[in-house]
Amino acid sequence: MTVNPYPLGLRLAGLPVVVVGGGAVATRRVPALLDAGADVLLVTPEISPALRAHADAGRLRWAARRFVPEDLDGAWLVQVAIDDPIAAASVSVAAAERRIFCVRADDREAATAWTPAVTRHGPVTVGVLGGGDPHRAMTVRDAIRTLLQARKGTLLTPPVEEGPLVNTGTARGGEVALVGAGPGDAELITLKGWRLLTEADVVVADRLVPGLLLDELRSGVELVDASKIPYGPSRTQEEINRILVDRALAGSVVVRLKGGDPYVFGRGGEELLACAEAGVPVTVVPGVTSSIAAPAAAGVPVTHRGVAHEFTVVSGHVAPDSPDSLVRWEALAGLRGTLVILMGLKNLPAITATLLAHGRPADTPAAVVQEATTGAQRIVRSTLGEVAAAVADAGLRPPAVVVLGDVVTVLDL
Ligand code: SAH
Repeated sequence: MTVNPYPLGLRLAGLPVVVVGGGAVATRRVPALLDAGADVLLVTPEISPALRAHADAGRLRWAARRFVPEDLDGAWLVQVAIDDPIAAASVSVAAAERRIFCVRADDREAATAWTPAVTRHGPVTVGVLGGGDPHRAMTVRDAIRTLLQARKGTLLTPPVEEGPLVNTGTARGGEVALVGAGPGDAELITLKGWRLLTEADVVVADRLVPGLLLDELRSGVELVDASKIPYGPSRTQEEINRILVDRALAGSVVVRLKGGDPYVFGRGGEELLACAEAGVPVTVVPGVTSSIAAPAAAGVPVTHRGVAHEFTVVSGHVAPDSPDSLVRWEALAGLRGTLVILMGLKNLPAITATLLAHGRPADTPAAVVQEATTGAQRIVRSTLGEVAAAVADAGLRPPAVVVLGDVVTVLDL
C-alpha cells in the first residue's frame, strides 16, 4: 500500500534550489521556481535556449558541467530532470545524505517529493497530486481550473477582513481596475482582466464591451452601463469618474471595463487621474486594441517585412479642417507605412480627400472593418480614392476601423 504524500507549500524566496538537467523537463520546471523567488542553480552540460535566456539574464546560475554531490551543499530542494537513471540515482543519494527533498522526473517511486499539477488564479494556487499518476493529477487539475474559471468570482473572492481594519488610504480597501476588454470577441480579454472582472463588486462597462463577458458575471455584482453612444447623448466622463471613486471609497472592488485597450482613445488616463486624486488605488490591465485586432481580423497585418515598417494610429473623430484637430493629416499623407483610423467613418470623405490632396496615392489599398472579431463583422476592401464611397454604398456603421497601406493586400493569394 502506498503511503499518502503530505502536501506542503514551499516558500522558496531567496533559498538555494538545485535543478539537474537542461532539457524539456527542466525548461518547464524552472519558471515556477523562479516565480517563487528561489535562488536556482542549474547543473547541466547542455542547456535549452529558454534556460540559456534565463541564465544570460542573470535569473539563475548555470554550472555547465555534470552534477557533483557538492552541488547540493546548502540547498533546500533538488529537482532531477535527466533521463539517465544512474546519474539521477546519484543525485538522490547525495540529497538523502544532506536531508534535502528530491523530485525525480525520471522515477516517481524513487522521489522523496512530488510536484503537483498546478492551476493558478491570482493569489490562489491549487496543486493536485494524483497518487503517483500524473495524468490523473492533470485531469483533476483541468476540471478544477474549468470550475474556477467559470465561477471564480464566487469561489475566490477574499473573505471579509477580520480584526481591526488597516487604513490603506481608502475607507475600506476599495480599488479600481481599468481593464481592457479587447475588441469584441469575448475570448480576447486577458487572463488578468478576466480574473479581476469575475472578482468585482461593481462593473462599469462601455457600450463596446463584449456582451458575453457581462453575461458571465457573478450574481449580485452591480453593473453600471456607462454607454457613450457615438454622436448621441452621453453620460458625462465626470459622472463616470465620480461613480468609480465613490464606489471604491465605499469599499468596493470596481472594474472599469473598456473596449480594446483602456488607453487607446479610451479616456483611461482621465479615469486614472480622477482615482489618484481621490487616493483610490488603480490597476491598469492593457487590452487587445481594435487598432491592431480589427486589421488582423480582415487579414491585414499592420506591419510586414519589406512592406511597412511603421503603423500609425489616429482618431478621425475630429474633421481634418476643424480648429480642434490635433492630427497633422498632411504629414500623414507623406508617410509610406500603415495608417489605422479609429472613429473615422463620419469624417471619412474629408479624411480621404485631405490625404489625397497632400499626395497619398489614390490607389493605396484600403480596408474598413466594422465590428471586428464579432459575429457581426463586416469588411469592405477598396482604395484610398474610393473607400469613402464604398463605405457609404455598403452602409457600414461604427464601430469600424479603417486601415490604409500596402499591407492591406499583402496577404492576398
Ligand atoms: N480603446 C479602444 C478604442 C476606443 S475608440 C481600442 O483600443 O480598441 C472607439 C473606436 O474603436 C470605434 O469607433 C472604432 O473605430 C474602434 N473599434 C473598437 N472596437 C471595434 C471593433 N470591434 N471593430 C471595429 N472597430 C472597433
